[in-house]
Amino acid sequence: MSTNMKTCPICEEGQIHETSREREIEYKGEKTMMPLYYSVCDACGSEQGDAEQSRKNKQVMLSFKKQIDGFLSGEEVREQRKRWDITQAQAARIFGGGPVAFSKYEADDVIQSEPMDKLLRVAQAVPEAFIWLAQQAGEMDVCQKARKASFDLIENSLTRKDDSVVLFKARSKPVVTNIEQISVSSTDSLQIAG
Ligand SMILES: [Zn+2]
Repeated sequence: MSTNMKTCPICEEGQIHETSREREIEYKGEKTMMPLYYSVCDACGSEQGDAEQSRKNKQVMLSFKKQIDGFLSGEEVREQRKRWDITQAQAARIFGGGPVAFSKYEADDVIQSEPMDKLLRVAQAVPEAFIWLAQQAGEMDVCQKARKASFDLIENSLTRKDDSVVLFKARSKPVVTNIEQISVSSTDSLQIAG
């Protein structure tokens, strides 16, 4: 007997086996095929779900809702967090939502609020916004890393045209002026452009 086998609580004779089947789900008039996770008894044939399967089924439904409602998917939130190189706990300190918020967003256990979704998108689109949020949260290492990355990004997109160098210099002035703690190490490398 495999350790995964469980005796059926209904007939108390058969073993229940985990399985899944495709089923259609509908949300706001949109339909899709998604897996339904459950177990079936090999003796009485009854279908049943445990807490873990119920959680997986809920995640499937929530990921579809996120897609239809235009929210960042759990996977997208995780990818962006990895790009920022921060832990889930740091993300929660920077963006709010409580200590387990990001583990829940990323697992599709909950849908982030609309303001949280917008905040994440702003931080994604505007590096200075992320830097500001990290600074407000006292995450100075994160702040410094993000600032460096943002400089590298601009630097890499530089052409050799003089006017773009001027543009770059103008942009290099910190938008967030109250980050005294940050030493911008890449400032030196800007000089080569001038
Ligand atoms: Zn049974």
